[in-house]
Amino acid sequence: MSENRGRCTNTHLGCTCKGNQAIHEERAQQIDEARTQSAEGVECPECGGPTTPLSIVTWGNCRACRTAQSRQTHPLRW
Ligand SMILES: [Zn+2]
Ligand SMILES: [Zn+2]
Repeated sequence: MSENRGRCTNTHLGCTCKGNQAIHEERAQQIDEARTQSAEGVECPECGGPTTPLSIVTWGNCRACRTAQSRQTHPLRW
């Protein structure tokens, strides 16, 4: 399962690698760090509401903002 170009396992977490290993690893590291910090609450930069580090890393905002955005625009911004 090493041939997985363009369909990485972290796409749903905002990975933009499209098969680029360097980008993928960097992203995976960010996601990993966010996961280990997920007990800490952080503030959404857009609405100021409480959210998790993983949400920020993945979408850049909280779940509520993300939901609101994907209704307006296309969710495939990454
Ligand atoms: Zn990836
Ligand atoms: Zn928000």
